Amino acid sequence: MHDLRRLLRPYDFPAYYKTMLRDLYKRPIKDLRISVTDRCNFRCTYCMPYDEYTWIEKAEILTFEEITRLTSLFVQLGVQKVRLTGGEPLVRKGLEKLIRQLCGIKGLNDLSLTTNASLLAEQVPALKTAGLKRINVSIDTLDPDKFRRMTKRGDLGKVLEGLFAAKQYGLHPIKINAVVERGVNDGDIIELVEFSREHGFAIRFIEYMDVGNSNNWTSEKLVPKKEIIERISARFPLKEVGRDNGTAPSVDYEFVDGRGELGVIASVTEPFCSTCTRARLTADGKLVTCLFSSVGTDLKAILRSGASDEAIREIVSGVWQKRNDRYSAERLEALHSSTGYNPKTQKKLEMITLGG
Ligand code: SAM
Ligand code: SF4
Ligand code: SF4
Repeated sequence: MHDLRRLLRPYDFPAYYKTMLRDLYKRPIKDLRISVTDRCNFRCTYCMPYDEYTWIEKAEILTFEEITRLTSLFVQLGVQKVRLTGGEPLVRKGLEKLIRQLCGIKGLNDLSLTTNASLLAEQVPALKTAGLKRINVSIDTLDPDKFRRMTKRGDLGKVLEGLFAAKQYGLHPIKINAVVERGVNDGDIIELVEFSREHGFAIRFIEYMDVGNSNNWTSEKLVPKKEIIERISARFPLKEVGRDNGTAPSVDYEFVDGRGELGVIASVTEPFCSTCTRARLTADGKLVTCLFSSVGTDLKAILRSGASDEAIREIVSGVWQKRNDRYSAERLEALHSSTGYNPKTQKKLEMITLGG
């Protein structure tokens, strides 16, 4: 009897899913990116250049309790890492409450946040107390005028204040994300590297991608990883250390002089679809299986209809088992083909909805 009760403990049976759940390319589900809001106080030209959007209605946004319940079900299915993103996650009021709830989920090994840091200085004490340990901060240039042009309204001073407040409060590691756009900020790469080395931040350069439908991406605006690395290593010799666990999006490097590390996320020129274990949850509760998807599965409707945990797990498992996304790999094939690649052939969900 004792053994039977142990066998039936509710947190035992999801182990079955964890080992079995694979998509059509045998990729497990390991990471979850949660967009906590589609709203943002910036309008980065490469992400959401329009001044006005039709925002998701407040009533349609998942509550913190709903996010926490869904996250714990994802964790039971194999998710180990969660990243909060958006839109700008810090414009969602009381985010520290969500962080506290998520930190209580057994089996969730890693919780992080990607932010533009403009509101970080005032929020970092509460976020840290709630359990947040690490963050990624997006900074594409250290030139205040260019920063304002690229974000259409951002104040670099406020962002740096947030970044250094995070350091002062002991968040670690702090990674800087910089999207590189040819003719815009590719001349700022070395200064960003010097800045991160000087202050002990890790830096990740991101190849400019054709996310959403409004950033007018062309391959001419892309600075490939190879060129980014050549430019940096001409000044600071680098040693490649590869992808974390062999599967992470970023290819990492160490400076030969031992002063820090950097990475490049080369989604366009070296796609990593074959090892992509990321699911995305939109602010209005849609499960999306690829950054370039045009549709998602409405988990909020299922949740609000009163579905049981078991029913929701079954639905998520079913979606994941049918997943066959490999958009970036297909884009590279198209870029190398005689017909070329047209980013407008498929209408995609916007990055602010999806969580970048
Ligand atoms: N607002 C937060 C921020 O900017 O960090 C979080 C959301 S933002 C969509 C997440 C990440 O996506 C940021 O690091 C941003 O630079 C990156 N991103 C946005 N548009 C991109 C694009 N077209 N190509 C590559 N990365 C992009
Ligand atoms: Fe906002 Fe981040 Fe997109 Fe910039 S990259 S517009 S800060 S969501
Ligand atoms: Fe994953 Fe889609 Fe990006 Fe490929 S294109 S790495 S499947 S999110």
